[in-house]
Amino acid sequence: MQKFTKITSSIGPNSESKEVLLKMIKKGVDVCRLNFSHDTGEAQGAKIDLIREISKEVGRPIAVLVDLQGPKHRIGNFETEDHYPIKFGQKFVLDNDSTPGNSQRVQLPDTDVLNSLKVGERILLNDGKIELKVEKVSENHIETIVIRGDEIWSRRGFNLPDTEVETSVLTQKDREDLEYALTKNPDWVAISFVQKPEDVEEVRDFISARTSHPVKVLAKIERPNAIEKITDIISVSDGVMIARGDMAVEIPFEQVPAISRRIIRECRKMNKPVIMATQMLGSMVHSEFPLRAEISDVASAAYLRVDSTMTSEETTIGNNPEKVVETMAKILTFADQDAIDNPYDWSRVENIPENDWSRSVASMAYLNKASAIVVFARDAVATTQISCRRPDIPIIAVCNEDVIANQLCLSRGVFPICDSKLFGQRDAFNAARSFNISRGKLVIVDEEKISLRVLD
Ligand code: PEP
Repeated sequence: MQKFTKITSSIGPNSESKEVLLKMIKKGVDVCRLNFSHDTGEAQGAKIDLIREISKEVGRPIAVLVDLQGPKHRIGNFETEDHYPIKFGQKFVLDNDSTPGNSQRVQLPDTDVLNSLKVGERILLNDGKIELKVEKVSENHIETIVIRGDEIWSRRGFNLPDTEVETSVLTQKDREDLEYALTKNPDWVAISFVQKPEDVEEVRDFISARTSHPVKVLAKIERPNAIEKITDIISVSDGVMIARGDMAVEIPFEQVPAISRRIIRECRKMNKPVIMATQMLGSMVHSEFPLRAEISDVASAAYLRVDSTMTSEETTIGNNPEKVVETMAKILTFADQDAIDNPYDWSRVENIPENDWSRSVASMAYLNKASAIVVFARDAVATTQISCRRPDIPIIAVCNEDVIANQLCLSRGVFPICDSKLFGQRDAFNAARSFNISRGKLVIVDEEKISLRVLD
């Protein structure tokens, strides 16, 4: 049985030692996510070096995904470190006064954000546990009424589901983090709180002004205004992450599964890899075993044929990151095999023209019961496109550059190998044999040519 759905694992304090990371990678991690909301600079650089070292050691490409914090908004400080009660029905003021806050008011340090708010808009504090509604607006001073109360303390994050904030998607911190990260040649960069296609283009321009390394850019979808412009955002991105954590704060949570399905469909149609993220095995931060609902969530993502599922806190601060990866790999492997045993219904390929070349590759493989597709990959584009037809047999991507092999680690069913000898000789048979495929038929894709060969 083979795992086709990839695993993206967030790497943090409990997973950044060589011993643990090596075990996680051996158990099935394909993409390592480095969350720059937490560590920055040299600390993240050391993790990138370690991932590269382990990848060489295990002889398998591993992608490095740099995840920028983005414009995550935070309130200012309170008078003490205590938790302050904010009660239903009371008034609460947000202003630009740096005097420490109390139960009646607190500073909102970013004046651009403060002055973007309009009467009637919502402010969700502390993962949505507190909801405020704006009642009165004047310069640097917002009066709100508390719609849902709870406790609040210094520097908590907040979300503005109704507000388009006119700030750059790259904060000063993001610029410094990205500037540093680019010196380490990451394979992917993820942008948080994307609102519009121009945000993705801004990051692309920032990158291309600093490096010729072909970094791929991934848009994290979490804001309502990004969902409104989803097709345009996907079309300018190289991939997408369904960031269900912030998404479920910013839009009614019951809508998250439907929106996720829509994003997956659009990404497949537009040939872009998609990651299903957040709380997939969250209970395993403390527990050795997943919740039944979590098992179903991971398997459902595989049945929806996402490219990758993701681990978050369960592998950064969890008790047993290796067990988390083993658990996720076990669930994905079974679901992927089950999907293969119940073959794909081609009539359900949405809006992909009959004469699309990647559809021809997948159809040829399906109709001839091929054992594998071998692609000679000069870049990641053609292989990603074939992967988006979800052919349910291994796609062996023979690459001649590490960065291409690494980037393809995110694509469903793609098994990249970087071997200039195989690439130079266009040696599809040996490529297949290196994956223990020694019988059956191969569909071979080499530039414009698609051919069918029987393995001898
Ligand atoms: C999310 O909100 O689901 C998410 C992945 O974002 P982050 O962990 O970067 O806050």
